[in-house]
Amino acid sequence: MRKNYLLTPGPTPLPPQVLEAMSRPIIHHRTPQFQAILKEAMEGLKYVFQTAGDVFILASSGTGAMEAAVVNLLSSHDTALCVQGGKFGERWGELCKAYGISAQILDVAWGSAVSPEEIKKRLAADPKIKVVFTTLCETSTGVVNDIEAIGRVVKDTQAVLVVDAISGLGAIDLKTDAWACDMVISGSQKGLMLPPGLGFISSSPKAWKLIEASKSPRYYFDLRKAKKAAEKTDTPFTPAINLIIALNEVLKMIKLDGLEKIFVRHKKMADAMRAAMKALGLELFSADASSDVVTAAKVPVEIDGEKLVKTMRDAYGVTIAGGQAELKSKVIRIAHMGFIEEFDVIAGISCLEKVLTQMGYKFTLGQGVKAADEVFLK
Ligand SMILES: *Cc1c(COP(=O)(O)O)cnc(C)c1O
Repeated sequence: MRKNYLLTPGPTPLPPQVLEAMSRPIIHHRTPQFQAILKEAMEGLKYVFQTAGDVFILASSGTGAMEAAVVNLLSSHDTALCVQGGKFGERWGELCKAYGISAQILDVAWGSAVSPEEIKKRLAADPKIKVVFTTLCETSTGVVNDIEAIGRVVKDTQAVLVVDAISGLGAIDLKTDAWACDMVISGSQKGLMLPPGLGFISSSPKAWKLIEASKSPRYYFDLRKAKKAAEKTDTPFTPAINLIIALNEVLKMIKLDGLEKIFVRHKKMADAMRAAMKALGLELFSADASSDVVTAAKVPVEIDGEKLVKTMRDAYGVTIAGGQAELKSKVIRIAHMGFIEEFDVIAGISCLEKVLTQMGYKFTLGQGVKAADEVFLK
């Protein structure tokens, strides 16, 4: 018997209200009963996305919603600018390539946030750019980008701004309308505390013009179908019924707490985690743009990063993430988003200290937990 602590940047732990909702008997989706639930979910999503516009619910993982953005906004031979500062930024370029879209890559050093000025320059240099693809929190590096500033530079250009907020929405601030984000993408299994399986996508009037003009082949992910159905509080295909029922529970919880309070809680957990890493002598992977939802820290050179993650999971039931691609075994990533609280953070740090000690890393045991507790006590 083992209690599991899930501290990965997706999936994240599920609140009891979600588990309960997921276990209810299924109902049919073309019923007044489900329609009332869908209506509530659609309204609640507007609050979380901070938008007055539509938020469509797709039965897919987050990447499905990313693909929906690409095929609905662009046609083959169109030009897009893809901000690429990690594995998830790269996904925008790969999706464009799959549909014959000319992707201009804005390469950002892994661990750094993109410079809005750089986006401005690229847009001025190439008026053919129709879409700028960005990421709120680049989960592979822990970096958070300044979407508000990016919104300011894209707003008055011909281009549409798309933000992958799969990691971070509902946990850190993202004002879809006020920051001029034309399309915001999210998924269910990160800040939104649900199992994987739902994709979300918002759309501004500026984005909608491109959606109507796109000649890309699309069927399941055709947002014109989604909009037509949404107008009648319906979905074009069978929705993920139980996930949407659970989504309603989450939306109720988020509304009850209020977004502002939730953002403050995440900032505090991140501050505590960053303080702990510093106290343990583990350098943050991003010096100045570390997000409030996932902390990436460099593994000391003498320590095998993959073994560290594996031992924490297999010997103690504490699951964190290692590095992806070029960061494999070089960083650890600990998430603190969604249904995670102070003592989950403490458990993660405590386990990290224990295993680091066993692996021969030299530091004063307890320093990390102490530093985190000092932040929590403030
Ligand atoms: C998790 C994640 C994705 C991928 O989402 P899936 O649900 O696995 O398809 C994309 N972008 C970011 C920033 C993520 O964190």
